[in-house]
Amino acid sequence: MGNAGRDWDDSFDVVVAGSGAGAMTGALVAAASGLRTVILEKTDLLGGTSAYSGASIWLPGTQVQQRANLDDSTENARTYLRALLGDDGEAHRESFLAAAPEVVEFLERDPVIEFKWSPFPDYFARPGRMDLGRSFMPLDLPLEELGDSAALVRPPVDRDRAGKGHDPSAPLQQGRALIGRLLLAFLNSGNGTVRTGTGLTELIIEDGRVVGVEAGGLRLRAERGVLLAAGGYENDAAMRGDLPGDAAWTMAPGGNTGDAINAATRIGAATGPLDQAWWCPGTADPGGRASFTLGFRGGLMVDGTGTRFANESLPYDQMGRAMMGHVPAHLVFDSRSKGRLPAISLPGASPADNLEAGTWVKADTLDELAEAIGVPAAALTAGVERFNGFAEKGVDEDFHRGEDPYDTFFAAGDGPNPCLVPVDQPPYYAARMVLSDLGTKGGLRTDPDSRVLDASGTPVPGLYAAGNTTSSFTGAHYPGPGIPIGSAMAFAYRAVQDMKAGA
Ligand code: FAD
Repeated sequence: MGNAGRDWDDSFDVVVAGSGAGAMTGALVAAASGLRTVILEKTDLLGGTSAYSGASIWLPGTQVQQRANLDDSTENARTYLRALLGDDGEAHRESFLAAAPEVVEFLERDPVIEFKWSPFPDYFARPGRMDLGRSFMPLDLPLEELGDSAALVRPPVDRDRAGKGHDPSAPLQQGRALIGRLLLAFLNSGNGTVRTGTGLTELIIEDGRVVGVEAGGLRLRAERGVLLAAGGYENDAAMRGDLPGDAAWTMAPGGNTGDAINAATRIGAATGPLDQAWWCPGTADPGGRASFTLGFRGGLMVDGTGTRFANESLPYDQMGRAMMGHVPAHLVFDSRSKGRLPAISLPGASPADNLEAGTWVKADTLDELAEAIGVPAAALTAGVERFNGFAEKGVDEDFHRGEDPYDTFFAAGDGPNPCLVPVDQPPYYAARMVLSDLGTKGGLRTDPDSRVLDASGTPVPGLYAAGNTTSSFTGAHYPGPGIPIGSAMAFAYRAVQDMKAGA
């Protein structure tokens, strides 16, 4: 290749592009195994979407579930995934299931890493489901334990979008705690280097093997391998093509523009289907972005015809999929929630700002509300009346809201069905809803050891990928809370095991 001739600026055993959960896990596993490892992050902050996340981690059959005395096992998780996914992605699924307990055992060997089970139901009624979930989270991390390096971790989405750093009075939590703990262990290993503001631009090939990268104007050698874990192409409108949703509505921070996928395809790597994302409902924010919205505790959602079209309490990826063809939509609610959205919305703007911007409207009657959002008044009024009848009976005859353990997890109503709260106390509100995503999940084709494949299905020597840079084995499903991060971590671990085995 034309880019192989110049001298190297630096040399490592492992080069990792990206700094989300998969990248940081791979980097730590490599560094803790004695491999000199560099993390390259394009933006000035580490963590990507993973830092924004709740850090729910779906890795089944591990010591964390055992400590929590859950009646769960690898076999149980296999039953669940097989019932949901069928034969699709079976080899990757088995690789994931085998890696899950190993990666957790490896990480928790480090004194700064500890996980704790946290209840959050699996998303599908299938054999092997855990009604209270099997995913776990990292423990909070006091800022002082990370010292100056805490400023390198991307803050929560509300503060980050507002241009603020971490709240100095609070520990790092959720995604920030995950990235912070992995970073601390990585730095403590003595084998780790971190370069922010250094985006990977090209892969360097010699004799058919990836031997290094170009990043930030530097040529960095990778003796054992390059791990691409630089997120998806959420923010690249051209790459998204006709993927449902919109780059403006994604929750991923701006650095995720498919660079790693493109660098790999330029040297002959193959991609799987680019038609999937981890979808979710989003409330349209005054600033033109969207807020990830889940856990609806009231209200009903209607489309442009003023008609309800789904069980609003569905797990967010399923609700996102249900919204396709029905957006823009509106969540219609009443004054029971005291002027606030009856749902969790991240980052979520204030009601006053939404009303001023017109992303929410408020009216004394449903007819006026219908006019304000441009839907037929008769349809909206009839739909709300029908919904209120369901609330009174406790049965959603149209969409079965409240019949699944996931639905009731967030419910707060005090009627016969806690998910069905009548909408009958004016003033009424309508919040504009859009189709958002937590990341694209189509990308490089890999084998079960996370080796990147070319068009003939042959591994490209020296090149590995994990997380949203790859095609997910879950296809068009989001099996449970923490699958994006859990699978990114498991496949990053597999990549480093293969690099070590190839020594
Ligand atoms: P990211 O975490 O986005 O990391 C990619 C990184 O690569 C970014 O920092 C980016 O700047 C960097 N990068 C891009 N290009 C380059 C380049 N050329 N060179 C170097 N670096 C580059 N999922 C869960 O599993 N559990 C949850 O609890 C959960 N909660 C969520 C809550 C919220 C509010 C959101 C928004 C998402 C949540 N998700 C959750 C989804 C999940 O966070 C993401 O899908 C996942 O973290 C993506 O991981 P990743 O490593 O592929 O990418």
